Amino acid sequence: MNNKFDFTKISNECIKCGKCKPVCTIFGVNEDETTSPRGFIELLGAYKRDELELDINAKNIFESCFLCTACVEACPNDLPTDMIIEQVRYDIAKKYGIAWYKRAFFFLLRHRTIMNIMAKLGWVFQTCGLKIDHKTQGAKLRFDLPIEKIKPMVEGRTLPFANRKSFLNSYPANIKIKNKDKKSNGKVAIFIGCMGNYAYTNIGKSLLFILKKLNYDVFIPKKQLCCGAPAYFTGDFDTVDYLIKKNIKYFETFIDDVEAIIVPEATCSAMINTDWEHFLHDQPSWQKRAKAIAPKVVMATKWLENSTNLKEILATNGKKMEDIVTYHDPCHAKKMQGVEKEPRELLKQNYTIDEMSDPNACCGFGGVTMQSEKYHIAKAVGVKKAAMINNTKATVVSAECSACRMQITDSLGRTDSNVIFKNPIELIADALKN
Ligand code: SF4
Ligand code: SF4
Repeated sequence: MNNKFDFTKISNECIKCGKCKPVCTIFGVNEDETTSPRGFIELLGAYKRDELELDINAKNIFESCFLCTACVEACPNDLPTDMIIEQVRYDIAKKYGIAWYKRAFFFLLRHRTIMNIMAKLGWVFQTCGLKIDHKTQGAKLRFDLPIEKIKPMVEGRTLPFANRKSFLNSYPANIKIKNKDKKSNGKVAIFIGCMGNYAYTNIGKSLLFILKKLNYDVFIPKKQLCCGAPAYFTGDFDTVDYLIKKNIKYFETFIDDVEAIIVPEATCSAMINTDWEHFLHDQPSWQKRAKAIAPKVVMATKWLENSTNLKEILATNGKKMEDIVTYHDPCHAKKMQGVEKEPRELLKQNYTIDEMSDPNACCGFGGVTMQSEKYHIAKAVGVKKAAMINNTKATVVSAECSACRMQITDSLGRTDSNVIFKNPIELIADALKN
């Protein structure tokens, strides 16, 4: 693959102003110039000039970025630090290979049928090894693992667990509003994302409930595959290429029949409507096809707020709820798609909102590598987010992102917090239920 970005040019354009440093997630943990946005840019410039070898030390440095895009938002020159790091991770993957368990995971993402079988097996056997808490939607290991290498990744950790049936296997592909007196307001498709499909299935169920209230027909594209984000952030570009093209070909079969493809997941939405196009920069015909799809792919709260009268319905027919909500801005929602007001506008119709001190600060999810080999860093960032949440009066923390959910639920689980996590779509559906 050709480099989309000229590392030398970007390195020259960095004026070293340091505006990116205070907002940088990894700099906030390490407080080391090397792992700061301008440090990464400097090193990548040197790498391009053959003055820096991509050795284990450099690999570790480039894998410590959370790809949160906070630096891009702060940079006066809009330098794409996150994207050049995504690019160098491809070189890292080529040089060092990809760990077996990540390859196994990406293999499952490419093969939905096998993933379904694995999720089912996981559901059958998970109670043997996991203590499941349905209230927090999290599970903890029942026993200590004797493997020293894995121990730090799982000790005291709250993990998501598989549901009995995936979202995609729970409903028919076409759902029409049944009430003959009501005229359909249109038709939308749902892209659910892998975590919403297997673990947090109440998000999709809630979204269907809301769409029914709004008199929308729904198409659930059964052959949708992972958006490719986990593989993209890990440098497995073969898997990304495969998933994007499979999805594009499939989306093209129904895109003209729906008003929008709504996504209750910030990362999947940003990956499809922004990163697919970047990834396909050196394949113009595919890039054109990705570009044609992108405008219809939109985060669920954005579409519900801007294209429907849901807010009025919530204000007039919704219940006043007792829960106090604090809203966390997923990096891929606010920074990448400008979605921040929409979920709040909808939620405040029925809930009291108590903002945390810095809702825009990254929760520390960071991707597959961060959640495995570099989990100690993810944990350090999570501690700060949990403290912010616990310092509010909130009983619920919400974000339209299941990666944030996994990370925040784990971070809260390490404190004495009673705060639980819900996607805004679940909260909105709760307010509409009689
Ligand atoms: S993407 Fe986030 S963690 Fe990475 S350099 Fe930018 S601000 Fe820092
Ligand atoms: S804000 Fe932009 S220009 Fe300034 S140091 Fe950071 S990357 Fe360089």
